[in-house]
Amino acid sequence: MASGNIIDGKAFAENLRARVADAVTSLKQEHGVTPGLAVVLVGEDPASQVYVRNKGKQTSACGMESFEHRLSVDTTQAALLELIAALNADDTVHGILVQLPLPDHIEEQAVIDAVDPEKDVDGFHVINTGRLATGAAAMVPCTPLGCLMMLEDRLGDLSGLEAVIVGRSNIVGKPMAALLMGANCTVTVAHSRTRDLPGVCRRADILVAAVGRPEMIRGDWIKPGATVIDVGINRIPAAEKGKMRLVGDVAFDEAAAVAGAITPVPGGVGPMTIAVLLRNTVIAACRQKGIAEPVI
Ligand code: NDP
Repeated sequence: MASGNIIDGKAFAENLRARVADAVTSLKQEHGVTPGLAVVLVGEDPASQVYVRNKGKQTSACGMESFEHRLSVDTTQAALLELIAALNADDTVHGILVQLPLPDHIEEQAVIDAVDPEKDVDGFHVINTGRLATGAAAMVPCTPLGCLMMLEDRLGDLSGLEAVIVGRSNIVGKPMAALLMGANCTVTVAHSRTRDLPGVCRRADILVAAVGRPEMIRGDWIKPGATVIDVGINRIPAAEKGKMRLVGDVAFDEAAAVAGAITPVPGGVGPMTIAVLLRNTVIAACRQKGIAEPVI
């Protein structure tokens, strides 16, 4: 979904949710299966509460079952693992998402490891990471998969393009690199120790920024005509006193003047993440029930 050189993530996400809803209707009619997504929230982090509420709403709107589990901040790790075991065993639940971050007394990795890899719609389990790295059928992390979908929508075949990803986190940078390698790009992953970051970025036909530093990537770091995907979500003080505004990792106005296409913040990658989560839940349900996967 693009107008001019701005990639409209909101419209793209809306379109993807409509395709998910169609797939859910077919699953119900043809196989009697209603995909179910369980979201677990521990504590009362305000941003996490908003995400969980949105996930629940969008899951139901697509015709799927939404199960919300809100646990108090002092929930023990053992109790959380017990809930995950119950969700793993529950036939009506095809996807499990534990909202991160978790309170400090809970070991995040132990929780990620406890989710059945077939229900791991976040794609964070080491089995899915390994499957993605080796080119097997994985559950793929939502944000980078959304970025790939937008890139393929905009550019078609990505074969042979130079892709530079700034950031090497397990949830964005690394899976993004695996996906772009799978799409036959020549991939460079840059990070905080990279020398001459502007020079590295200037090589990119596709530049993915996943850093968490407001407007770090400047217009003159961008190769003319490149496609720029800005994953960053940063809150900075707005012109109006006491207000905050969202910006990405890319200096948008400067970059938009040079790029062939660019995702804005907000309204670019962000809206795609939940839509891909819904898509992953449908795919997980099909795999668990031995049903041919729809192309969504
Ligand atoms: P992390 O903090 O886990 O990783 C940041 C990466 O950026 C690290 O690899 C780090 O390098 C690198 N980095 C930090 N500073 C520099 C620098 N000066 N130069 C080059 N590289 C640098 O972040 P995430 O991957 O979790 O998230 C990145 C951004 O994306 C955040 O703004 C986050 O809010 C956003 N995000 C948005 C999502 C969405 O739905 N739109 C989903 C997930 C994240 P090193 O490894 O060397 O420390």
